[in-house]
Amino acid sequence: MDGRLVDLQEALVPVTTHALHYGTSAFEGIRAYWNGENLSVFRLDDHVRRLQRSGSFYNMEPGYTEEQMARAITEVCRGNDIRESAYIRPLYFVSEWGISLYVTPDAPTRFAVIAFPMQQYFKDGGISACVVSWRRFTDQSTPVQAKMGGNYLNSILATTEAKSNGFDEAIMLDQSGNVSETAGANIFLVRDGHLVTPDNASSTLDGITRDTVMHLAEKQGIATVQRRVSPSELYTSQEVFLTGTASEVIPVTSIGGRSIGSGPGSVTSLLMRLYSDAVNGRGDVPRGWLTPVY
Ligand code: PMP
Repeated sequence: MDGRLVDLQEALVPVTTHALHYGTSAFEGIRAYWNGENLSVFRLDDHVRRLQRSGSFYNMEPGYTEEQMARAITEVCRGNDIRESAYIRPLYFVSEWGISLYVTPDAPTRFAVIAFPMQQYFKDGGISACVVSWRRFTDQSTPVQAKMGGNYLNSILATTEAKSNGFDEAIMLDQSGNVSETAGANIFLVRDGHLVTPDNASSTLDGITRDTVMHLAEKQGIATVQRRVSPSELYTSQEVFLTGTASEVIPVTSIGGRSIGSGPGSVTSLLMRLYSDAVNGRGDVPRGWLTPVY
């Protein structure tokens, strides 16, 4: 925290912290994978770049370079002697700035990295989802590509609606009624052998796992079309799956109680395997995707 390795009990903030009042925190979710010999952070530079950009929409300066933030992330893993797969949460946030809504680059920020062991996020065999009544917020109100604490109120409402109705995940539509994304993951459809995913104009976060999956699919000769997706297409696709750092690649086997295919489909299963290979350094992984910790 703020450039030092400290015990979790010491990593405290005052109640006057601006981010607590207004959601002025920029954060990332990153995974590190243990392959039996070393821990590797997956697409660290891409996550740190997005972390830096998120705050820049709001004039927030992390106070550290991207290289320093990346080094802090590997050092927190090393400092905790993590030797199993882990989730890493770096964040920076406006600290003492009174009640002002005029955030300038002079606003003080604090920077922290938390890392903890985490295996699979969702259970095996796929999840249920439903289309919720809450719409994804739009770029006309709040920049969609800025991964900010305040944005996740929208995801919390969506998740609460889905879970209280007995579903695992919430699918949100954008303001025009097209499919956007889930509370914390991007969505893909498998249609006639190719992939379809909502374009960024559909209020979707430009997910790093989404990009990874498109790259892995392309290498198998499976094309991805990024376009507007109407909700009814969810039900007429052969397969539906989600992508996200925490979720990884996870099949959606029913939406609103309607079955999608009969269990995880062959394209989703292939991409799950290729994703697992890539994060564990098996096969042909692009340079820079895996940063060893030890
Ligand atoms: N959409 C939302 C709203 C998210 O929170 C996330 C997780 N960061 C994603 C999509 C997936 O992004 P990524 O693959 O970069 O984790």
